[in-house]
Amino acid sequence: MNEFFRQAFDLSGQVALVTGGGSGLGFATAKCLACAGARVVITGRREDVLKKACQELGEGVSFHVFDVTDTEHAGKLIETIVKEHGSIDILVNNAGRHCKKAVEDITIQDFRDVMDVHLYGSFALSQAAIPYMKEKKRGSIIFISSMSALLGMTKVCVYGSAKSAMMGLTRCLAGDVSADGIRVNAIIPGFIDTPMFHQAVDSDIPRQNKILGHTPMNRYGKPEDIGWAAVYLSSNAAGFVNGTAITVDGGCAIGF
Ligand code: NAD
Repeated sequence: MNEFFRQAFDLSGQVALVTGGGSGLGFATAKCLACAGARVVITGRREDVLKKACQELGEGVSFHVFDVTDTEHAGKLIETIVKEHGSIDILVNNAGRHCKKAVEDITIQDFRDVMDVHLYGSFALSQAAIPYMKEKKRGSIIFISSMSALLGMTKVCVYGSAKSAMMGLTRCLAGDVSADGIRVNAIIPGFIDTPMFHQAVDSDIPRQNKILGHTPMNRYGKPEDIGWAAVYLSSNAAGFVNGTAITVDGGCAIGF
């Protein structure tokens, strides 16, 4: 490999945490980060899923069972990872849950449940990781947002609010920690072929047609499309990319 290219994209020696890494985008992101040389820790709630994912992902990937809503223990998780692997350099706040409901059916508890995972959980982990990143003057925090943070979509008020809040957090956190060498960015995935996506659209043919009708590339994305964006954002190649979001959506946000 050309040395100039290697220095730009090689993640060797870096330690990454990917939440919700047992499936879908998290799994693919762990795979791409590991391919780029990072030591990757995946977390999730189901030990069997994580164990199987680690077997598939191979050497360099390990797991911890951790529910991101357990904000009280976020610090302990990060501390354990640092003890085990020496640092925490990359944090991908990927764990998420969907909530597709008509306005009339939404409860305040729905908001609390979704915010717990997407916003409070990812904030707690970021906050816990920042002191270690500051010490090394290096870090990349990535939030996985959603098209619902950009576009007015039906039945996703709760989910879209959480994902929009993540975008605010991305910008403001970047403001707080950039001087310490930590970059904070978001990825806005378009419609990507994962278990969560199928759960949201499989019984909704008009929605599927609408999505494909709005996606100039006329297909769903692959989980690795998001994983490679995470590799880029974590790498030296993105050294001046900060406080922003990369949309990986096959052109869906053009809104043609
Ligand atoms: P997925 O269901 O495969 O992955 C979500 C993961 O998060 C699962 O492994 C799940 O177990 C985990 N998770 C949920 N709640 C958790 C909790 N409390 N603690 C720990 N882990 C928890 O779906 P996905 O499509 O891969 O979603 C990954 C992320 O990407 C989510 O944040 C989702 O909102 C976002 N996203 C997905 C798409 C898409 O089209 N697939 C589009 C935009 C955004």
